[in-house]
Amino acid sequence: MLPDSGTAYLPLLALFASTLGLSLGLRRRPGHSTGDRGWAGAHALASLGGMVMVICALTPSVLTIVAAHALGLAAQLRLLKTLSPSPLRWAKPARRGLPVGAVAAVLLFAVLAVSGEPAGAGHLLAVLGHSATAALAWRALWLLTGERRARAGFGHSLVAVASCAQLCAQCLFLAMTLAADSSLPPYASAADAAGLLAQAPLLLMLIALLSGMVGHALLCAERLVAEQVARARLDPLTGLLHRGALEDAALSLAARAADDATPFCCLVIDVDRFKRINDGAGHLAGDAVLRRVADAVRRASRTTDVAARFGGEEFCLLCPRTTAEEAQVLAERIRARIASIALPAELGGHASVSIGIAQARPHRDARQAWEQLFAQADRALYRAKRDGRNRVVSACADDTATSAEPWSAACIAAGG
Ligand code: GH3
Ligand code: MG
Ligand code: MG
Repeated sequence: MLPDSGTAYLPLLALFASTLGLSLGLRRRPGHSTGDRGWAGAHALASLGGMVMVICALTPSVLTIVAAHALGLAAQLRLLKTLSPSPLRWAKPARRGLPVGAVAAVLLFAVLAVSGEPAGAGHLLAVLGHSATAALAWRALWLLTGERRARAGFGHSLVAVASCAQLCAQCLFLAMTLAADSSLPPYASAADAAGLLAQAPLLLMLIALLSGMVGHALLCAERLVAEQVARARLDPLTGLLHRGALEDAALSLAARAADDATPFCCLVIDVDRFKRINDGAGHLAGDAVLRRVADAVRRASRTTDVAARFGGEEFCLLCPRTTAEEAQVLAERIRARIASIALPAELGGHASVSIGIAQARPHRDARQAWEQLFAQADRALYRAKRDGRNRVVSACADDTATSAEPWSAACIAAGG
């Protein structure tokens, strides 16, 4: 025996109310970002839309239909905004958070609602509403299966499942509305049937809500962990890699260079007479100079290079697939950029750096290759300091970390 329509729809109403409570709770949880608020708010709107849709199925009226579809559309638009800053090519980014699309949809529904006879207008509204929401769910699915596929995690898959379920729900609603008797209000026959098929689109909407909420929560957690991991590798003052991260990168680049038999160079950069800046203008002014030096190193290097700050005023640049001659040109470019950084007014003049360069020798052990490379570049740097600073010195190809007198005039290129 089938339950009467009110009893059959009551659990759905309770479930939508629960998802509303959950999404409002997620929206208010401490430590959330603006992005979190966006998807949690969208799920709150969708839950409210689901509740109104259940009421529609029980007592259909133009008002409940308009409300249910406006809420559904607004939710779908907000969800799209969390996936892409301008998800609809034809819509400009909303100004001051005004959901332009949703307002336009509500106005359209209102015009239709007052212009037609009740049952016909209701059907037209339902068809338009389900078509628009289905189109937005399709767009979300498109965005999710597009450029994000490469770095998809479980959260991403769940959000895709949610969009898929929403799309199916809207298509099913659309089919049921088109097949229904248009002289009766829309959803009226569904309420009469109260069977599984009548409830299927609402159940699909619930699946969309639940998997969407869990999926977005996982996406946020995955993003947060990725941000923390990336931040943990950075020097907080300059935003370059710190010493530990430099070593990790150097070991993998040294191993790759040995495997591919490609040249691999290292630049060790030290700011000249930096202590004088601290002593003359204060540590904060010294920090500002360090930030500008790091910026100059970053801008002068190529995207494949790896820049790090490994000591107080010491920087390192790893240059894969780069010969010593190419590294020399790069080092001169960095030196010239830094020479244009004005020092604090109390000191006057410009910053300068000394740079040591070395090219890695093929070695089966990546750690030994890196340690030898760094030691060579470091010795070249100290040679540059001894020779008067503000210059680039390249280590000789036959220099070894243990040799007593590794330098010869032929392997030194002075730049200043
Ligand atoms: P040289 O030309 O021989 O390299 O001389 P220098 O003065 O640059 O070298 P020295 O090693 O004597 O001084 C480095 C200074 O860098 C000493 C230290 O107080 C300062 N320093 C280290 N870390 C930081 C930092 O994070 N911020 C600031 N402002 N100063 C730092
Ligand atoms: Mg130093
Ligand atoms: Mg120094």
